[in-house]
Parts: sequence; structure tokens; C-alpha cells
Amino acid sequence: MLNGIGNMAWLGAATLFILSLRGLGHPTSARRGNLYGMAGMLIAVLATLLVTGGAGLQIALVAAVVGGGFGAVLARRVEMTQMPQLVAMLHSFVGLAAALIGIANYLSADATLSGVERTIHNTEIYIGAFIGTVTFSGSIVAFLKLQGTVSGKPLVLPARHWLNLAVLAACVVLGYRFLSVPAGTDGLYALLIMCALAAALGVHLVMAIGGADMPVVVSMLNSYSGWAAAATGFMLDNDLLVTTGALVGSSGAILSYIMCRAMNRSFVSVILGGFGATASTTSSTPQGEVVATSVDEVGSLLRDASEVVIVPGFGMAVAQAQGTISEITRRLRAAGVRVRFAIHPVAGRLPGHMNVLLAEAKVPYDIVLEMDEINDDFTSTDVVLVIGANDIVNPGAQEDAASPIAGMPVLEVWKARTVVVSKRSMATGYAGVDNPLFYKDNTRMLFGDAKGSVDALLRHLEAA
Ligand code: NDP
Repeated sequence: MLNGIGNMAWLGAATLFILSLRGLGHPTSARRGNLYGMAGMLIAVLATLLVTGGAGLQIALVAAVVGGGFGAVLARRVEMTQMPQLVAMLHSFVGLAAALIGIANYLSADATLSGVERTIHNTEIYIGAFIGTVTFSGSIVAFLKLQGTVSGKPLVLPARHWLNLAVLAACVVLGYRFLSVPAGTDGLYALLIMCALAAALGVHLVMAIGGADMPVVVSMLNSYSGWAAAATGFMLDNDLLVTTGALVGSSGAILSYIMCRAMNRSFVSVILGGFGATASTTSSTPQGEVVATSVDEVGSLLRDASEVVIVPGFGMAVAQAQGTISEITRRLRAAGVRVRFAIHPVAGRLPGHMNVLLAEAKVPYDIVLEMDEINDDFTSTDVVLVIGANDIVNPGAQEDAASPIAGMPVLEVWKARTVVVSKRSMATGYAGVDNPLFYKDNTRMLFGDAKGSVDALLRHLEAA
């Protein structure tokens, strides 16, 4: 009876997770998608407690209260700009959980299992622990890179792909040993040595990825964490965990693929730690003169323009300038200027980062366009206002074959009549690459914190 209710509840939760993913596909339905996901997770937790009955109930409740408490505090404290770090950290927890559950499952092995059943169960444990450990250590490195504790530059060891291959081969050999030791014999050493090797592999795979490719790595680790959860589901014979893990794994893989395509990167290359990519880490220093501008000059440019495109980037999120930008947009549109926003697929620090901020600031969805939809329109644009963006508007991606971001599609803002770049200094963006855009004849640099600059710009427009 209880199992029947549990199964029904799990089915309901899985359906809610699917609806949640569907909802998250568009800004208008994202809030609803989140609610579906939360409801699904609540049902899943309650059903699990119900089905497992008294066994471990107290421990589970204590863990839920402690974990929920930490989650609530983190959610309140973490800034939107720190979300990727948080996500990477959460992926590492999923990976660690999968690895630990695998080891625990092996230690408390069901003595009645034998023959093929035992081999299948141990294979689930081995694969779950492997994916879990790679996810765990890779996510920790991703966290450190996103936090800036570890450099975003790719670590290029000699013969690095052979190293990866050797580690992988060693894991396969250990797996054979793990599966072939007779029941009752200790295969734990093989399992633990594999975990140590998998941890090293995870570190190396992510260390080899350059700054600009980090978004793909984060979504790829998201996918791995899903597969690790699915493997844990097989281990624990828990259908909901298998379904949920597969949903996360496949949606993360699809997102990684979409991002790779958007960034003109090979999916396989990124998964394999940059396999097949040319390791260019130097590029030519931009030449030319940097021309600084003032709020008054930018105000006049905007008032005289008929076509304006605003390009938001990570700096807008840091400065929290979206509210003022929305107000400036409203004013300009009321004055008959056509204003649109150009969104690069990896702008900011998480997929959809800019869309979320602009939606919060009540910028109408229909003037927020994706890179492919607007890139051809820059030639007929009077003024492009770049707010705290850098890598996503770097012409070096097209002009400098030696650039680490060579080949990455970028917003071709330099084709507009005038480009105004609001940022604090000449510092590079996340990828650590100099930007020739700042030296172009039609570029004007509006130095200063983006919020301060756009606040002053709004005051100027109001006074005019
Ligand atoms: P960038 O990181 O390239 O550049 C942001 C710029 O904002 C900096 O050059 C900085 O210059 C400026 N800035 C920072 N703070 C402020 C402020 N308060 N006021 C004004 N300017 C400020 O951002 P982009 O959005 O152009 O590109 C995103 C980068 O992040 C890409 O390389 C992408 O691959 C990577 N990435 C993206 C992820 C995603 O999922 N979207 C995840 C992980 C990485 P200054 O210091 O001079 O002000």
C-alpha cells in the first residue's frame, strides 16, 4: 500500500520536474517552472520519507533541516553574479554524494546477491563512483576558477591527452579487477584507487579549459551530476532518482551542445578537456588610441540617434545598473528612438543571466534579441551602448587567429556608427584577452562604475 502511494507520488514528482524544465525554457514561464520544480522536490522528499518509513527517519529529518538551513542562508547571501560558483559547488555535492553512496553501498553489500546480479550491481557502483568523483573534483576546480582563486588560463600539460587516456585506461583495468574479485573478497582498494584517479582526471579536464569556455564546462558538469544521480538511482533501486538524474543529465548535455554551437566550439573537444583545440594563449596587442568620452557627449549621441542597441554584460550585473538602463530605454523610446538589446549566449556568468536581469528590470521581451537575430543590424545602428561587456564584443575573435577566443562568435558592435563602452578601466574580461574594440576610431570609452555612469546619463536625459 505504502509502496503504491510512493510510486504514484514519484510519478507525480517526475512529471512536475519535466514541466519545470519546460517552464524554464522561456523567461515568461521561468517562475512557474521553478514552482513546479520546488513542488516536485517536496513531493519526492515526503514520498521517500513515507516509503522508507521509520528507517533512518530521524537522521533524514536532521539532514533535511541542516541542509535546508544552509541552503536558505546561501540563497539569501549569494549575489546573482556569484550564481555560477554556487551552481558549481552544488554540482560537486551531487558528485560527492554519488561517490560516497557508491562506496557505502559496496561496504554494505547484499550478501544474497551473486552471479550476474552481483556483477550488475557492482558495475552500477563502479560507474556511479567514477562519474561522481570526476564531477566532484571537476566542479571544485570550476568553482575556484569562477571565483578567481585559480587562473582562468588553460593549463596545458605536455601530452595531456595521453595522460587523460592513461588514467582512463587505468580506471578500466581497475574496474575489471573490481568486478572479477570473488564475493567476499575485498575489492574496496580497486574502488578507492579508481576514485583517486578519477579525482585527478576531473581536476585535469577542467584545468585545461580556458576562461571563455567555462560556461560550457559548468553546463557539462551539470550534465555529469545528473548522470551521477541516475547511477546512484540504479544502485539504490530508486526509480525517481534514475528519472530525475536522466532529466538533469540529458538537459545539461543538450544545453552544453547548444552553447558549444553558439560559441563555435567542438562539444567533444570541451568534454575531453580541450582535445583537438589549438592551445593559443597569446594574441597581438591592440594598436590605436583610446578616446574617453563624457556623460554629456553620450547623452547628445543618444538623443540624436534613431537606432540604438544596448549590449549588457557581466559589468552591468556587478553594478546592478539594469534598473536605470530600463528607465533610459523607456525615455528614449518615448522620444521616438528605436532601442533594442543584444544578448550574447554567454554574456554574464550564467546562461540567461542578462535576460533574467532585464526581465526583472521590466525591459519588454520583444526588444531583447539574441545575437543571431541582431548581429546583421549593427551596420544600420547609430549608437551601441556596451554596458560592462567585454569578451562578447571582442573583434579579436574574428580578426586575430592567435587569440584564445578566436572563432567564438561575438556581437559585431564595431560595425555601428558609434560605440560607447561603459566600464571602469582598460581591464580585460573573464577570458583575460585584450579587446581591440576599445582602440577603434568609432569607439568612445565612458570610464566609471556602470551604475554611476548610467545614473548620470539618465539625469542628463531628464534635464534635456
Ligand atoms: P566579461 O567578463 O568579458 O567583461 C566584463 C567587464 O565588465 C569587465 O571587463 C569589467 O571591466 C567590467 N565591469 C566589471 N564591473 C563593472 C562595473 N561595476 N561597472 C562597469 N563595468 C564593470 O563579461 P562579458 O559579459 O562580456 O562576457 C562573459 C564572459 O564570462 C565570457 O568570457 C564567458 O565565456 C564567461 N563566462 C560566462 C558564463 C555564462 O554562463 N554566461 C559562465 C562562466 C564564464 P572593468 O574592470 O574595467 O570595469
